[in-house]
Amino acid sequence: MARNTESLKTLMDEANRRAQHYLSTLPERPVQPSLEDVEPLREFGGALADEGMEACAVLERLDTLGSPGTVACAGPRYFGFVTGGALPAALACQWLAGAWDQNAAFVVGSPAAAAVESAALGWILDALGLRRSWGGGFVTGTTMGNVASLVVARDELLRRAGWSVAQQGLFGAPPITVIVGDEAHSTLFYALGFAGLGSDRVIRVAADGQGRMKADALPAIDGPTIVCLQAGNVNSGGFDPIAEIASQARKAGAWIHLDGAFGLWAAAAPKRRHLTRGLDLVDSVATDLHKWLNVPYDSGLTLYRQPEVAQSTLALRASYLPDDVERQPCDYTPEASRRARGVEAWAAMASLGRHGLADMIERNCRLATRFAEGFRLAGYPVLNEVVLNQVLVSFGGSEATTRVIDAVQLEGTCWCGGTVWQGQTAMRVSVSSWATTEEDVDSSLDAIVRIAKRLG
Ligand SMILES: *Cc1c(COP(=O)(O)O)cnc(C)c1O
Repeated sequence: MARNTESLKTLMDEANRRAQHYLSTLPERPVQPSLEDVEPLREFGGALADEGMEACAVLERLDTLGSPGTVACAGPRYFGFVTGGALPAALACQWLAGAWDQNAAFVVGSPAAAAVESAALGWILDALGLRRSWGGGFVTGTTMGNVASLVVARDELLRRAGWSVAQQGLFGAPPITVIVGDEAHSTLFYALGFAGLGSDRVIRVAADGQGRMKADALPAIDGPTIVCLQAGNVNSGGFDPIAEIASQARKAGAWIHLDGAFGLWAAAAPKRRHLTRGLDLVDSVATDLHKWLNVPYDSGLTLYRQPEVAQSTLALRASYLPDDVERQPCDYTPEASRRARGVEAWAAMASLGRHGLADMIERNCRLATRFAEGFRLAGYPVLNEVVLNQVLVSFGGSEATTRVIDAVQLEGTCWCGGTVWQGQTAMRVSVSSWATTEEDVDSSLDAIVRIAKRLG
């Protein structure tokens, strides 16, 4: 396995050639792989060979077997979940960072990774309208961001009550009240369980028809309390009234956490920023970078109004670890060794700039409205107020709507998933990619409406 410059060049050129071919065919291929394309994936396994293969042959095998079995979610007509495609600059910089193979935990492990990460963090705070005194860490996604934030919140509230979770554990600790909206994301409940706060013992606050927590239904707050807010409901795109609830909760001394997986990015677009009013009042925020910032997986961010509080729970200390620098990347995440995740965030922000980011968010929202208008025009009811990039449409009853969703996925022009929204089965359309154009929306609308009429 000695490094041979010539064969390394051949290998990397080959990887580049195959990746470019993949990307160039992305807009034309069916979004969902066919059964024939999925069938060969079983050949990946088999018995582990005694002798290894040539690197070029390994690459060839991955491409031949794997590429046809991928979902074209990096392409322009994937509207499932909340899925952004990777921006070209982010992808290219990820490749270079892959060659760097840095351990981004400590400054001494990679001055470059630490500097890039700090720069990205600063730019993101700036674009979101948050003060530079905020801080945070790069995590795999919002799920881990919610876990990290809730653990920090838990430790801080108990520290104020004279209890150290790190030293004394949770058994026998003073109880913490947790308040969440009735339409909080499933991963928030998962994170509450993970953090030892329990998903069933929380107080659930009623939500309105758009999934927004009702501010007047907030219970009186007394004692150690975490209030979990949401910016951007995964179905409707609705926002909890952040300013109203946060100002009340703050007066009562609660910790306020915000799940802003994708909705947080409304703050970067002047016309949508009002949706996030009160953002500067919360204590912690979890968000995804692999959703609306359009960086490759996996990438998320946790932000803290008082980063030193997060540090007191998350920082790693050991005799052989350095602790003499201004910002250690690992002081703000639950991980130690990890890849230089900040690189793609930095590249995305650098290539977009403030205006490019705002335009991307705003364009996706406008395209969602275009979808909604198209559905209404064709006679299909849109179930949500389209305030952001999410559209919920019904094609009749539960069975009829499910039939349309299945047929749309099979047809391959675009991909949309299903959901149940406040008791009603719906198709979800989430416009989250830099690559989506008006033509993509129109051809997708054509395909969906044609299928719905045929089945209806
Ligand atoms: C997607 C999403 C999450 C989970 O994010 P992951 O990136 O899958 O970890 C949490 N909350 C909301 C509102 C989401 O949309």
